[in-house]
Amino acid sequence: MNEEKIIKIFSNCIIVNGLKRSVIYDLEREEFFHVPNSFYYFFKKYNGKSIKEIKDNNNIENYQTIDEYINFLITNELGFYCDTIEEANCFHKLSLKHETPSHISNAIIDFDNNSSFDFIKIFNQLEELNCQSIEIRFWDVINKYFLIDLLLYLKTSSIRSVELVLKYDNKKNEFLNNIVEFVKLNSRITKIIVYNNPFTKIIKESNAFIIFIKEKITKEDCGKCAEYYFQCNLPFYVEAKNYNSCLNKKIGIDANGEIKNCPSMKQSYGNINFTTLAKVLNNEKFKNLWNITKDKVDICNKCEYRYMCPDCRAYTISNNLYSKPSKCNYDIKTMEWNNKENNLISKNIFSNYEIGISNTSY
Ligand code: SF4
Repeated sequence: MNEEKIIKIFSNCIIVNGLKRSVIYDLEREEFFHVPNSFYYFFKKYNGKSIKEIKDNNNIENYQTIDEYINFLITNELGFYCDTIEEANCFHKLSLKHETPSHISNAIIDFDNNSSFDFIKIFNQLEELNCQSIEIRFWDVINKYFLIDLLLYLKTSSIRSVELVLKYDNKKNEFLNNIVEFVKLNSRITKIIVYNNPFTKIIKESNAFIIFIKEKITKEDCGKCAEYYFQCNLPFYVEAKNYNSCLNKKIGIDANGEIKNCPSMKQSYGNINFTTLAKVLNNEKFKNLWNITKDKVDICNKCEYRYMCPDCRAYTISNNLYSKPSKCNYDIKTMEWNNKENNLISKNIFSNYEIGISNTSY
């Protein structure tokens, strides 16, 4: 190894420290890697320094670990060598500004047999707010022709992505057997979840995933935090650094027409039959929750996953707005998911080799 070379971590690879370990987020390739906290503090100090300088500042017994850390970055294409300081300085940090032209970026609409609101009126209001994606969750079996009308309307709207949650009932909606044809009706459909289904299956059709699951979903089921919900990408990271990763620019309408930050939350800001979404948005209280970043949430603020994990403010420990989501099974002290199925890829790299660099030095 030429020790005059300078080691640099790619700008789109961010190391986030947690209570017991850190994670490198590769925001471009949407992958993440577990590393010890000493790795975080090491590169916070030495990113952009020559290998010679790094070794000159460390004891000889750490040289093997230093080489291992650097090799890990190079082998996994998380870092690269530069020949000069000038060259290394050409690579700037990522901008963490979060800007979107939408007043509302996403909406969730719940619907059941007792719902009495006008979908088209809601869609029109969402379009005026430049909403980009909507999720419609049907808690009762939906009439085929009603759904087709909705999808045909959305086909020409400015809303770009549509997700549906549908209840399966063999007697009432055989049309779900031909759901692939159904997806072709509207290219804006990105996901359909059919619950209560006799079997489990995932189909990819055009831009959409159609997911059949046996389990029954209810409105109380949202807010789960697990590895398969993680989003390790730049837009999510930047939003989570600045705003609440679940509620920012979100609006929810529950099955009774009550307008909320999310349909699962208690606080209503008016009923869609008597007020408008724009009026609700003018209420500053409605937007307060948008500013609760993971850094402000107890326990999550020490979790290495905090900028890839979707948040939930509807179900929190002790119903405290600044507490960890109550449906999260991750223990930041043991680094284990208490629910085994979530513990898919959690493992320490370098568990035997850590450099004793003090957290307080930086
Ligand atoms: S502790 Fe918080 S940030 Fe970490 S996985 Fe759980 S909910 Fe997500």
